[in-house]
Amino acid sequence: MLLPAALPTPLLVIDDPELAAAGVELRLKRDDLAHPTVPGNKWRKLAPNLEHAVAAGYRGLLTYGGAYSTHVRAVAAAAKALGLASTGVIRGAELADVPRNWSLARAERDGMALEFVERSVYREVADGRRERRPGHYVLPEGGSNALAVHGAAVVGAELAAQLPGGAGERDVVCCPVGTGGTLAGIAAGLPPGARALGVAVLRGEGYLEREVTELHKSAYGREFENWRLTHDWHGGGYGRVPDELERFAARFEAAHGVPVERRYVAKALWAVHGLARAGGLADRRVTVVVTGVPDPVA
Ligand SMILES: *Cc1c(COP(=O)(O)O)cnc(C)c1O
Repeated sequence: MLLPAALPTPLLVIDDPELAAAGVELRLKRDDLAHPTVPGNKWRKLAPNLEHAVAAGYRGLLTYGGAYSTHVRAVAAAAKALGLASTGVIRGAELADVPRNWSLARAERDGMALEFVERSVYREVADGRRERRPGHYVLPEGGSNALAVHGAAVVGAELAAQLPGGAGERDVVCCPVGTGGTLAGIAAGLPPGARALGVAVLRGEGYLEREVTELHKSAYGREFENWRLTHDWHGGGYGRVPDELERFAARFEAAHGVPVERRYVAKALWAVHGLARAGGLADRRVTVVVTGVPDPVA
């Protein structure tokens, strides 16, 4: 492993009376503990890309993202750890001349060169229709490519070995979904019978399904049938944390002593509780993948 991680990540049983009453067993797959500076699914998705980039002789990494992108910070930290250069192409030309926010400041501290682009052209730039930097391996916005999917698939394989009796018909493995790479990988890595449930954290009905399907085709040359997405728990859109969700997440943290990242992980846990309450997960063994850590308090 180029970037050593603490694997397999722990599987924690959660004792929750409300879920027990609904006939649901809950476990947390603590991927948030995998690596101190490249947390959660960012490590899973980057690891095979880093192996490839280094083996192919690239000297740097280049990627894209918004002003608070966890992926951008993870790429900067990974590049630093491997002695590679890194460039982050950031949405928002107006950010160039104002003090850095904590997220961009951290990426810069890790040696990342930041380039700011106008919002109006960012989409075109991030989709790769742009001259590439020589010697730099390009990672897509959010980091989801075929190698990333293979990296996330290891989560499914670890779970198959960690769940008592192995993973099977009773199992639902749930994760939050931004670009879909993590869900695509988890679904592909699960043994037959077990199912993956993705919780969309943004308004992406239809679009996200197509993204996951395309990732499966590019990573495995075929589609998978063992997953679905729910679009009922994004709380209004990306980055939106309605009061009810905030209260739920704070209660969960207090009850179970696990830090709950709000933009993604909280929505997955909220969905599981909501679906359980509605009777939709009766007699299921549910594992929520804790895909990341909370932002540092400003
Ligand atoms: C980036 C991120 C995700 C989104 O993963 P995708 O593979 O893009 O769907 C989920 N959870 C956390 C905590 C993240 O930082």
